[in-house]
Amino acid sequence: MAQNKTRVVVAGGGTAGWLTAFSLVTRLGNVLDITLVESDQIGTVGVGEATIPTMCNFHRLMGIDEREFMAATNATFKLGIQFNNWANQGDSYIHSFGEIGQRSWMAEFHEFWMEAVANGQQDSLDEYCLELKAARQNKFATKVGNKALNFAYHLDATAYAGYLRAKSEAAGVKRCEGKIKTVDIDPQSGNLTGLGLDSDLYIKGDVFIDCTGFRGLLISEHLDVGYEDWSHWLAADRAIAVQTASVEPAKPYTIATAHKAGWQWRIPLQSRVGNGIVYSSQFLSDEEALATLKSNLQGEILTEPRYLKFKTGRRQKAWHKNCIAIGLASGFLEPLESTSIHLVTTALIRLMKLFPFTAEHELLAEQYNRETQKELETIRDFIVLHYHLTQRDDSDFWNHYRTMEIPEPLAHRMAIFAQNGYVWPDDVSLFRVDSWVQVMMGQGLRPAQHHGASRMLPTANLQQQLAAFKQSINSVLNQLPSHSEFIAQYCPAN
Ligand code: FAD
Repeated sequence: MAQNKTRVVVAGGGTAGWLTAFSLVTRLGNVLDITLVESDQIGTVGVGEATIPTMCNFHRLMGIDEREFMAATNATFKLGIQFNNWANQGDSYIHSFGEIGQRSWMAEFHEFWMEAVANGQQDSLDEYCLELKAARQNKFATKVGNKALNFAYHLDATAYAGYLRAKSEAAGVKRCEGKIKTVDIDPQSGNLTGLGLDSDLYIKGDVFIDCTGFRGLLISEHLDVGYEDWSHWLAADRAIAVQTASVEPAKPYTIATAHKAGWQWRIPLQSRVGNGIVYSSQFLSDEEALATLKSNLQGEILTEPRYLKFKTGRRQKAWHKNCIAIGLASGFLEPLESTSIHLVTTALIRLMKLFPFTAEHELLAEQYNRETQKELETIRDFIVLHYHLTQRDDSDFWNHYRTMEIPEPLAHRMAIFAQNGYVWPDDVSLFRVDSWVQVMMGQGLRPAQHHGASRMLPTANLQQQLAAFKQSINSVLNQLPSHSEFIAQYCPAN
């Protein structure tokens, strides 16, 4: 019955707002009454087009049809990120979403490979990862026989919000267009009670989700929750984005090219390419950044440059009173590993598990905030690794990152890998052993030693096993169509 429903007000209609509205109506629609407010005049951040594989699971949980979603959002597949010029100018490696070699519980695959290399084998660790090799050869299929590839998507952010909006409205979400002008708070409880729009509409609610982007209109401007600034570790505070025409078939990976004082992304969609430069205003002016971006583009520029400002860090409490900040309102890490939309999805899963159906929700909020903090700190450290683990000394920017003090858990992780080759997955199960190995080795950190278990087999047997594994990867690889052939038959853009 309608009067028993908890009234949820989602403030903001970017990717975070519409993902929130859609997820809540899909999974809790019978017990929630959902209204979303967005302002066409303010608009959305308009970037955020590369994802990580968790997105596929989230879509499955929410019942999103992959082919329909991809066709609607001009999407392509993503098997990883190619990092150019990070350890040194001219170098390149791919952080892929694939597993390298075979899992074994005591020592990791890279340690067996290191043992073979120590005994004269001459190949690269990359040879043992299907997704990485497929990326290099521009090949793709969601699966071959019973071998499923691990992948994510590149998508058009504006089309994605539109796609989710249509689905949300069809499922019963009410949308109100207008600027939020007033925010009312109950003086006794400190809870939010309603939002007044410039159109004179007034929306009452029990639970408010702040998806208003960087400003955090509810959580920050009205509830005064502070921001933990991480710019001493992640100095980037500006970005400029432009779209270009495609000049080649879309590659199944993102490219992140480091520059003198920042880095540039290239995200290929079916019919255009998203590009942008991320930089720190401390080290680079907007004019220089734009010039650098433009001099590294391929294809005709289709849009005016979009300038964005941000501060890396996290909202001290993502959930305060009856307000939960999701998306950019809850904090922002670098877009380097495409983790922001992922963080929206994990926030939504957490919120649905801990949803405040009653007024007694302080403990739920505390748990939510603890989990959110842990998750952000873990991802932060993985991103810091890319900047810190460099030999570049060609600018103040790289000298800053190379020599800065890093968070202790990251320093420990790097030290143990350098000395012993030991790696473990991160605390929130996002970046697995393979991710840490690919980035640490990709950026030039070679362990001095590796696990003795790798010497249990005679060298010839080890080499035979590695050769057989490589062979099995190549036989799958040979069956894969090109990325663009696969898209053309599976999910061509509408
Ligand atoms: P926004 O898109 O800013 O939406 C805010 C909404 O709030 C808008 O609808 C706006 O109209 C509304 N609003 C604000 N104030 C009011 C008001 N007063 N009244 C009414 N409505 C209001 N993420 C990834 O996962 N992958 C990437 O590759 C990636 N790249 C990025 C690159 C850059 C440079 C940046 C800055 C971010 C990137 N992100 C990326 C992050 C990603 O863009 C965001 O996480 C995602 O778009 C969600 O944004 P949002 O919905 O929180 O905010």
